[in-house]
Amino acid sequence: MARRKKIYEGKAKILYEGPEPGTIVQYFKDDATAFNAQKKDVIEGKGVLNNRLSEYFMTGLAQIGVPTHFIKRINMREQLCRSCEIIPLEIIVRNYAAGSMSTRLGIEEGTQLPRPIVEYCYKDDALGDPLVTEEYIAAFGWASQQDMDDILSLALRVNDYLSGVMFAVGIKLVDFKIEVGRVYDGDFQRLIVADEISPDSCRLWDMETGQKLDKDVFRRDLGNLADAYTEVARRLGVLPKNASPITKPTLIN
Ligand code: UDP
Repeated sequence: MARRKKIYEGKAKILYEGPEPGTIVQYFKDDATAFNAQKKDVIEGKGVLNNRLSEYFMTGLAQIGVPTHFIKRINMREQLCRSCEIIPLEIIVRNYAAGSMSTRLGIEEGTQLPRPIVEYCYKDDALGDPLVTEEYIAAFGWASQQDMDDILSLALRVNDYLSGVMFAVGIKLVDFKIEVGRVYDGDFQRLIVADEISPDSCRLWDMETGQKLDKDVFRRDLGNLADAYTEVARRLGVLPKNASPITKPTLIN
């Protein structure tokens, strides 16, 4: 069988050409990186969990009418997605101060923000994904004003959806990052949620204990990352409710 053509290899995923024009296959690796890849490890089971969790969130978003690139999960580590032109921005939504916001502004981690705050970083690993203003985005042509309106609306809808889903299972959505891509339907173009939504790209805290259930477990050496992600999957019903933390997850379906 002919080998699939690799389009791109990132820190946590590999993208291959899909079986039909306009499709790609996302392969979820077990590699974990932090601090712009200065800290690296392989966490057995992480890719499998993120594939399944991203499927769960993208499917839920589609069900409430938020367009995403997700088509279907193919197997334990791969999903079929619609190909799109990625807007070169990391779109971050914050409900509580944490991470770089706390460092930058000296706000204690966990402080509730007066309202969700959306911020943009320019996607460039060599530069460490610097924070940029909408003025930069417009001036350098990374996205149009219409795109920015659509991006803000998508980001806030994803925030409402994810906050609600997490709240229902006793988890506080502190912040998250999404990426957005452009697709063409005939003469029309529109923006859709792309990349992945997983505990790699969110901050998730247990509502009662404050326990971190996201990539900060790896960034800050707080325990086993796969166990934390397994807990999120278990609460959401992606893993059986009685599943004990495991590093080689046996997933439903
Ligand atoms: N984030 C991400 N990829 C990045 C940068 C940030 O997924 O390249 C996520 C991160 O996991 C967190 C949110 O975006 O949920 C806000 O991250 P922050 O700016 O606080 O950066 P960090 O503290 O991770 O450097």
